[in-house]
Amino acid sequence: MNVLDSELATSGLLQLGLTVAGSLRDADVILFNTCSIRQHAEDKVYSALGRLTDWKGRNPHAVLGVLGCMAQKDQRLIFRRAPHVDFVLGPGQLDRLPSVVQTLLDAKTADRTPQKELLVGLPRQQWKHREVVESFRRYDPIRPVETRPRRFQALVRTMFGCDKFCTYCIVPSVRGPEQSRSPQEILDEVKTLTDQGALEITLIGQTVNSYRFKDGEKTTRLPDLLARIAEIADVRRIRFVTNYPTGMDDDLLRAVRDLPKVCKHLHVPAQSGSDAVLKRMKRNYTVDDYRQLVDRIYGTIPEASMTSDFIVGFCGETEAEFTETVDLVKHGRFKNSFIFKYSERPGTKSAELFTDDVPETVKKRRNNELLAVQDSVSLELNRRFIGRTVEVLVEGPDVSGNRLTGRTPCDRVVVFDGALSLVGTFIELAIADAAPFTLFGVRGEGLETCNSSPPP
Ligand code: SAH
Ligand code: SF4
Repeated sequence: MNVLDSELATSGLLQLGLTVAGSLRDADVILFNTCSIRQHAEDKVYSALGRLTDWKGRNPHAVLGVLGCMAQKDQRLIFRRAPHVDFVLGPGQLDRLPSVVQTLLDAKTADRTPQKELLVGLPRQQWKHREVVESFRRYDPIRPVETRPRRFQALVRTMFGCDKFCTYCIVPSVRGPEQSRSPQEILDEVKTLTDQGALEITLIGQTVNSYRFKDGEKTTRLPDLLARIAEIADVRRIRFVTNYPTGMDDDLLRAVRDLPKVCKHLHVPAQSGSDAVLKRMKRNYTVDDYRQLVDRIYGTIPEASMTSDFIVGFCGETEAEFTETVDLVKHGRFKNSFIFKYSERPGTKSAELFTDDVPETVKKRRNNELLAVQDSVSLELNRRFIGRTVEVLVEGPDVSGNRLTGRTPCDRVVVFDGALSLVGTFIELAIADAAPFTLFGVRGEGLETCNSSPPP
């Protein structure tokens, strides 16, 4: 979501005639696109802002802005903690970014001291729904290809905001109410992106499977949208993130199974394996519901790869409750899981109702324990690929810079030797070895193609 917002922000500024600076020394405008999901993300931004105090003193004509969820959450507090910041602009106000930057640059060029600008959406609790929706303005302009990290992959927003209000989560207040975009708008954007060279489209939404657009009598839902995007000839792969467990209905699973372009990878965050914890989190499903969902997914799409998110050390989490999460990770046979230590977010229900009482050392230990369990599941699943052939979209050099990486439809990263000219193409690789996060492949002539998931 933030990568896409950065592309949109860059796109608006390119239209002003600005260009991307190669280094801090060359920059006239510095923007931080921020995240509020955990305290650590915010701490990093405040310390980075602090490090720019001297730079700003030496460059009084430069513009410093804070965008994103932290802008919406902290608002004027950012000016108090970092007085050299010129403007604060929330995720629902990105359309105003070019004019704010232009006004500030003009004022500074004319040696005027401009007013600090604060542009944010309305708070959800105190205003009518319609007014709050209108205050989180939608902005999905056509963006030049150079704003994307890779020409052949593109993110497309299906919906804004979230209405789930999980008790630990800041997203519904910083990204505003759920609003789905019209299917036509999404399809037009996908066509433009494929004209620019995109081969892989990832549909994004905080709960992408809640996508629902009503036009008169007709309602378009995610499976319909997947089918219509699959009809666009130049689209080679379609992905979608992230799913809320209760919305994984059979229509969606059948669409994933039956549409060859839709990658058989489902990210469905479970958050916990304990009913009591899920209840405190207000996740609206039980562990049994989630286990049945896992079985239904593998039953419908045997080659599916599943991934999940978990929070450890949520308020009141006992050792027994944590053990239930370990059991769910084993049952889920997830390709990988993103595991987070609970971080209390001011303004959320859990901050109001519960005590953040699991000590940091215990959170850390549970985090490591769960990671170790997940790693062994990941390694076991990855090892089943050895000797098989997979198709990858080649993404670029690996971390060493000496080899290449590609991604399978089931979202596995394969490292292999090859020329940079392969980047952005689909190739087949035979898998020779496997680690928990990576497969190791070799190129071969005349390899037999098979789908890229292990036998169930
Ligand atoms: N909309 C997505 C997730 C958005 S946030 C969904 O519901 O699946 C990504 C992940 O961050 C969440 O799945 C959750 O595991 C984690 N997260 C959210 N709030 C958190 C908090 N306060 N502390 C720790 N992790 C959190
Ligand atoms: Fe946050 Fe829950 Fe919405 Fe995901 S579904 S963004 S975790 S409130």
